[in-house]
Amino acid sequence: MAWNPNATRMELQPESDAQAAIKPTQLIVHSLAAPWTARRTYEFWRDSSSLESHFGLGYQGDLGQYIGTETRADANADANRRSDGTGAVSVETASNLDHSDPWTAAQIEQLIALGVWMHKRHGVPLRICRSASDPGFGWHGQFKEWSTSGTACPGKARIAQFKALVFPGIVARATSKPAPEQPAPQKPAPTEEASMEIAKLDEANGIDVDLADNVWTTLAFTDAVIHSGPRKLVGPTLVQLTFAQGAQAFVSGRFVLTNPDGSGVSGYGDLGEFPASGVPQFLHNQNVPTGKTLRFQVRARTDDGSTTRLIHRAVSGDYLV
Ligand SMILES: [Zn+2]
Repeated sequence: MAWNPNATRMELQPESDAQAAIKPTQLIVHSLAAPWTARRTYEFWRDSSSLESHFGLGYQGDLGQYIGTETRADANADANRRSDGTGAVSVETASNLDHSDPWTAAQIEQLIALGVWMHKRHGVPLRICRSASDPGFGWHGQFKEWSTSGTACPGKARIAQFKALVFPGIVARATSKPAPEQPAPQKPAPTEEASMEIAKLDEANGIDVDLADNVWTTLAFTDAVIHSGPRKLVGPTLVQLTFAQGAQAFVSGRFVLTNPDGSGVSGYGDLGEFPASGVPQFLHNQNVPTGKTLRFQVRARTDDGSTTRLIHRAVSGDYLV
């Protein structure tokens, strides 16, 4: 068992004792498709899943370790533990729901530090894996053997960051050369936006709604309109739904654009499904065009015709005014 001294230990049992030993030869990075802290990810593995990763990394750089690195974890299909006893160590990282956003600076720093530790502690060689079983560093979608049915994880933006920043950062630091100069954070161009102010959207509604089985329902927060275009978002708009205790449904959400009178619905694609017990969250990252309003719809699937009671809903996010 090896525990990273830089990570907060949140040991998962019985997996940590029950699962087979591995000799770790790879580090594979993932996106969680959820904007969770390391602690929240631990609770999910503990309470809602028999799967787990070794590590979880929140947006703020909070790093949790759930399983010792010399014990098998589940995130990498065939690479979890090969017949020769070698296996991959996995790190899940907080992301938006379709893992399309880049890692934060804090996440990149922690991934580099973790990679250096994997090299020093376990001898993982300083190279990007050349095959599914080749020792080194990689990302989840890199080889089909690392997933059950193929995956785009951790997303295009993060694969680019892995190649340009994370892996070179690991090499530079592990070989004690100064880390490569990182591009300076982009300053906003001096446009009219610079003089615009950031406003906060923060609306909640605690009136119970009984959702019919498998039917899309538009939710009102203060009212059904979340944003009226034109509106430029600063960071994601987040919807969080809380269901009555014991709700068994699977929940999907979607953001839609409509005309101001609610007609002319067009969508951005379905998000989920998530178990109703898990306080599902949904993120939206697109600006709202002129003449359109942004609304949110939810669907709860029980498949036995029963309704699902939504007891609280909230939407938040920053935008420019
Ligand atoms: Zn993954």
